[in-house]
Amino acid sequence: MKKFEFTEPKNTPISDNDLINDIISVANVLAVNTLTMKLYSENGKYDVTNIARRFGTWSKALSKANLNPGNIINYSDEELFENILKIWQQKGKQPVRRDLSVNPSTISEGPYNRRFESWATALKEFITYANQNENEVLSEKDEEIIVNKTTNRDPSLRLRFKVLKRDNFSCCQCGASPAKDNSVELHVDHIKPWSKGGETVLENLQTLCSKCNLGKSNLD
Ligand SMILES: [Zn+2]
Repeated sequence: MKKFEFTEPKNTPISDNDLINDIISVANVLAVNTLTMKLYSENGKYDVTNIARRFGTWSKALSKANLNPGNIINYSDEELFENILKIWQQKGKQPVRRDLSVNPSTISEGPYNRRFESWATALKEFITYANQNENEVLSEKDEEIIVNKTTNRDPSLRLRFKVLKRDNFSCCQCGASPAKDNSVELHVDHIKPWSKGGETVLENLQTLCSKCNLGKSNLD
């Protein structure tokens, strides 16, 4: 005897949960913590304006899905690279994808995927960027104050990366390395202080751990 089977009627209303679950699954697939209406409509199952109407606004729907109701922040390449260097500096070695979701990273994987397609490409682009040569140009502000300087006080990302890489991401004085001890914090330091005429160039910069850096500034 043939069993009766339940067929869902075409006009069965879609529940709030169906909508929220689809928003969550789209966010998971794209690895983002927020979604624009456009991004959802390109990837989701349901009509985005209907969802917004159902929950009042699109932001409210995002909140229900535990997503960030804010707008997607478009980070500049420099900001994305700066975040990579920050993690690299703290770890003392090349970051991996999961480092993006924990301190000191402040940018999650989503923005990297949107900008570079994948984390691996983002890393490659970072290294290409950091290895490029640059002509350090003085900002106008510094030029007005210090006339006898040829460099800015703060080393650029490229310069910091070069210094850290040259010093194998370890302290020049005591050899401490965050790769071996994650309590070690590295700084890029002027050997001859900038305030005493030292320039911000590779030869006048060194990697120091926070302890040695502190000892040095006490001596100064
Ligand atoms: Zn040290």
